[in-house]
Amino acid sequence: MAKLEFQLFCTPKKKRCVCCDLVGLVEARLILWDKDRILGDLELCNTCAEGWKKALQLEMVHEEWDFKKGG
Ligand SMILES: [Zn+2]
Repeated sequence: MAKLEFQLFCTPKKKRCVCCDLVGLVEARLILWDKDRILGDLELCNTCAEGWKKALQLEMVHEEWDFKKGG
């Protein structure tokens, strides 16, 4: 089962964010795991990292919804 993990860099690196394509301080890495192996990662600026975090949390909330209860 694949899972995602966020890691924050101790020292942000100045490079291109793979999400918004802007060169700036890359502060976080989003890692895609397949069991105990890394499938790949995305190095993200702070803005994109926050966006992904919000999007993923929303996604998790969706999964927890119980539609039978009319929620
Ligand atoms: Zn970005």
